[in-house]
Amino acid sequence: MSSSEGRPFLWFGCADGTLSKQEVATPRMRLARELQSIINYMAQCDLEKANEPIVVLFSRLSPDVIRSGAALPTNNGSPKDSQSGMPLGDDISMAEYSRVKALRRAIEEARDKLNPRFIMLIPLQQPWLWTFVFLRGHDQLRPALHRLAPNAAQLMADRRQAVTPGLLMLDDLTAGKDVLQRLRPRMAHELRPLLLWMGENMEDSNERVVVLCICAEWSILAQRFIIPDADSGEAYQVAGLSDLGDAEFQRTLLARDRLFNVVDVLQPRLLVLVNWLTNSDDWLMVVCRDQTRLITGIGNTLPNREFCIWAQRRLPQPSKSGIYDVCYSNVCPKRGQVQLVQLCPRCFTAKYCSSMCQAEHWKAGHCRFCSPLQAAKLKRGPGARNDTAKVRSPAPSVKKR
Ligand SMILES: [Zn+2]
Ligand SMILES: [Zn+2]
Repeated sequence: MSSSEGRPFLWFGCADGTLSKQEVATPRMRLARELQSIINYMAQCDLEKANEPIVVLFSRLSPDVIRSGAALPTNNGSPKDSQSGMPLGDDISMAEYSRVKALRRAIEEARDKLNPRFIMLIPLQQPWLWTFVFLRGHDQLRPALHRLAPNAAQLMADRRQAVTPGLLMLDDLTAGKDVLQRLRPRMAHELRPLLLWMGENMEDSNERVVVLCICAEWSILAQRFIIPDADSGEAYQVAGLSDLGDAEFQRTLLARDRLFNVVDVLQPRLLVLVNWLTNSDDWLMVVCRDQTRLITGIGNTLPNREFCIWAQRRLPQPSKSGIYDVCYSNVCPKRGQVQLVQLCPRCFTAKYCSSMCQAEHWKAGHCRFCSPLQAAKLKRGPGARNDTAKVRSPAPSVKKR
């Protein structure tokens, strides 16, 4: 057949070393037939170099995991967990994770050896749900494939490919690993449409979506707790705090500090607050930056979800005359009111109006949280933007006023 000289050919491979020949034989036969129209199109439309391969990789991963996991790492390579030192917040199981890594390796290998224009990824469980990964020259090919294989997902894996963000699960020092483990798969499942949208529509998608598991009402944290820039020393009530019981007051302050910390250090685009204690089905998204596009995305992908917009002024900002915040002691005479306070000299997180309040709070429970709070400062780098450096310089002990 002289006409076949310039035709692309099919190259079948397995992304997963555990696949047997038997398992791929059937889908392989059918794919060869189904891909004929695409091969013909490519030959007729002169899109290909002579004898350029179409690479087909089989995998045990499900289509949606392929879709979110097949995006190729760029020069930067692997996720940056080692940098932040945070626990790996993957939204997939460990077995799936190692398969995703194997899949990426197989794609890179095929790209290096065969230099194809695109790779097809075939999930073995649902072999009719293909994903095309474009490695180069997709401008003409992309619309054509959309016409020839309208149900196949298409991904671009060139340097412009955005990596779908993963989840970074954090707790507010009270939940513990078992809570994170329990919530992670469900959060990952529910957030998946949004993560996919973010991967496709936002430039810097290497960052992770931070999920903060707290045991305090997120409505108080996210909406009612506002600290204005107070230069006047006047004390005033903070909505939602003064009417809390002692335990809830402490939990809210702890969760709030964790929240401030995460926003300040990680500067995430999106923060998800989950109150695991009362109702973890009920969670809130806090949009921290890049608002308009992200809000559109949330509206499109999770239409029933609530979100609120983080305002910078909700971080307690130091003013010329000191720090204004709530004293953390339950027995403070101005409990729940914003007033002039100083930081705990160890954790730089808890705040007190007097050494009496500090001593009381230490006995009441801060002794247990002080060093975890210190450790949870998320390893601020020396070059990191750090407004709180100014806050960190108070005298080593709180003076009685
Ligand atoms: Zn006090
Ligand atoms: Zn402390």
